[in-house]
Amino acid sequence: MLNEKNVQLGKVRSSIRELFEYGKKLKAEIGEENVYDFSLGNPSVPAPKEVKDALYDLIQNGDPVFLHGYTSAQGDYNVRKTIADFTNSRFSTSLTADNIYMTCGAAASIAITLNAILNAGDEVITFAPFFPEYKVFCEHAGGKLVAVESEENTFQIDFVKLEKALNKKTKAVIINSPNNPSGVVYSEKTVSRLAEVLKEFCKKSGNTVYLISDEPYRELVFDGVKVPYIMNYYDSGIVCYSYSKSLSLPGERIGYIAVNNKMAEAAEVYAGICGAGRALGYVCAPNLFQQLVSMVCGKTSDISIYKKNRDLLCSALKEYGYTVVKPDGAFYLFVKALEGDAKAFAERAKKYNLLIVAGDDFGCKGYVRIAYCVSTQMIKKSLPAFKELAESYK
Ligand code: PLP
Repeated sequence: MLNEKNVQLGKVRSSIRELFEYGKKLKAEIGEENVYDFSLGNPSVPAPKEVKDALYDLIQNGDPVFLHGYTSAQGDYNVRKTIADFTNSRFSTSLTADNIYMTCGAAASIAITLNAILNAGDEVITFAPFFPEYKVFCEHAGGKLVAVESEENTFQIDFVKLEKALNKKTKAVIINSPNNPSGVVYSEKTVSRLAEVLKEFCKKSGNTVYLISDEPYRELVFDGVKVPYIMNYYDSGIVCYSYSKSLSLPGERIGYIAVNNKMAEAAEVYAGICGAGRALGYVCAPNLFQQLVSMVCGKTSDISIYKKNRDLLCSALKEYGYTVVKPDGAFYLFVKALEGDAKAFAERAKKYNLLIVAGDDFGCKGYVRIAYCVSTQMIKKSLPAFKELAESYK
């Protein structure tokens, strides 16, 4: 008998993937240029020139045996040290190579971290709307994901609801700022208050609650907005970073986990991460790309294109009567559906060849997500379809 839970997971696609597959079929039928595919968070902006140069340099001048070989299970020492030093210079932390674990992207970072810290029955709080895979990773690690609703309209943390959700089973809180799917960035005030609430709770309850910051979109912020670094606010902080979006490298599967060395049990947590990585088979992240990311610290793809798309789409949708919270980061818009049932709304959108994802899977009913990491030309071409969709409700 197979593991039925995993068989089911393998059979049922996420609604995002389902829509993406539908889009592929539709494109084959009516032509790529006629489908307005906003389903997937796949960057459309190419990796920066520095990535190409570094890759070329590695391939031309590097030792192929080393580049294509195994590294230490937790990642190459020099790469980890470079990332730790870069993080220290940027955020005034004092991390060492032994606080960094190289991974295959943020997904692996989160899965490893949860497996490292959770025991059966532990609860992990996150804030809706949230990345749907958190539930899968959490349950696989034996835990339970508890989704706390965010403040209506702003999608900022609702602290009253958070305080109600905290209990003796709470082992971790996951934040994701800039957020997928809302694009919202938590301000310094929000992060400091969150840290204070968790510290107070830990003091009263005797629990240790880890604050996991899922950061694939850290560099994707507009208009000079700052993303506070959690380690500067909370000792038991773990950062799950990825280069998938910041360097437009989602297919290369590269990221890392950083454990705050200010937490009392940092060495134990790091050992747990190494152990979970080992148990899950997530060891020796691809070395070619470990080396590459250490050569381009601080570089990002050209995000001005995403900002242009955001501005264009936000103002057009508002004009057509949609309710939109203008996001400060990432490349998603979370828009109120024009009927109560967001799934029915997303289904109706398909008639106009608009592929948008219902918010239900993100734990937030009544909204749809538009991934605007597409070409600006596609956004412009799609606007009449958004207008017609809105008019069909009048
Ligand atoms: N976390 C969030 C919020 C995401 O949106 C994604 C991918 O879209 C991931 C994690 C997974 O990122 P990666 O591709 O680096 O594994």
